[in-house]
Amino acid sequence: MDTLGGKTALVTGASRGIGRGIARRLAQKGALVAVHYGGNEAAARETLDLIDRDGGRAFAVRAELGVSDGVEGLYAQFEGELAERGEGPEFDILVNNAGISGSARIHEVTPELFDRLFAVNTRSLVFLVQRALKNLRDGGRIINVSSAATRIAYPESVVYSMTKGALNTFTLALAKELGERGITVNAVSPGFVETDMNAARRATPEAEARLAAWSVFNRLGRPTDIADIVAFLASDASRWITGQCIDASGGSHL
Ligand code: NAP
Repeated sequence: MDTLGGKTALVTGASRGIGRGIARRLAQKGALVAVHYGGNEAAARETLDLIDRDGGRAFAVRAELGVSDGVEGLYAQFEGELAERGEGPEFDILVNNAGISGSARIHEVTPELFDRLFAVNTRSLVFLVQRALKNLRDGGRIINVSSAATRIAYPESVVYSMTKGALNTFTLALAKELGERGITVNAVSPGFVETDMNAARRATPEAEARLAAWSVFNRLGRPTDIADIVAFLASDASRWITGQCIDASGGSHL
């Protein structure tokens, strides 16, 4: 169903994993999608090929987040690509998905790890949104990819969990701020999803089974599980939901 026809979406971290799944789904629903990535050009190209094969429309935008000029560079390319297609800089959907993990219990945390996690997962996102608001259309959508680690204690990655907690707080405040423009702001909180991010944690069948057992469905999440929720939040059907953090963990640790 073409629920996003005529819409333009920017999905950060769409070269791999959950972001790729989201970009594909939004394109399948009819949106023109900017596939942002950090450095893995081959993976971004693969996402574009998959979208092309589905009959969708997309282009890639490269920008490293968590460094000083990352956000401006991203929008410069994004707007340049739109202009090449005869489009203005306005867009409709921003999905803040790019993120990094960082395993460290409290005694292992270093200032460098703390700064890096907050720079990529939290700081960059605030300024991505701030800059987006210049051109995000009224009635638009902002969707932040958070984590179930904000609900389920996860001391194995304490600072990572904190970066996502800050994201949830940001989501709440922003939803109130942008209500008068009809822009909804929500977060989606996955549990363990099969992606490169946690490949090392599920290196053996036993380790994988332990992670799968977090969910009442006894399996790991798939990028499509998250993408379908994001596609709903991106659509008009979700217009009465804002400021929410939607658990997308397959009922992990209920
Ligand atoms: P992933 O497979 O590791 O992919 C990460 C994506 O983000 C890639 O597209 C990567 O680009 C991009 N990226 C990472 N650091 C970047 C940087 N500094 N600058 C620009 N781009 C950067 O991750 P994932 O598992 O799909 O995770 C996506 C989101 O879901 C993250 O926010 C993560 O915290 C959240 N999440 C994941 C899980 C899980 O179990 N996987 C659970 C809860 C929440 P390149 O390909 O160019 O490197």
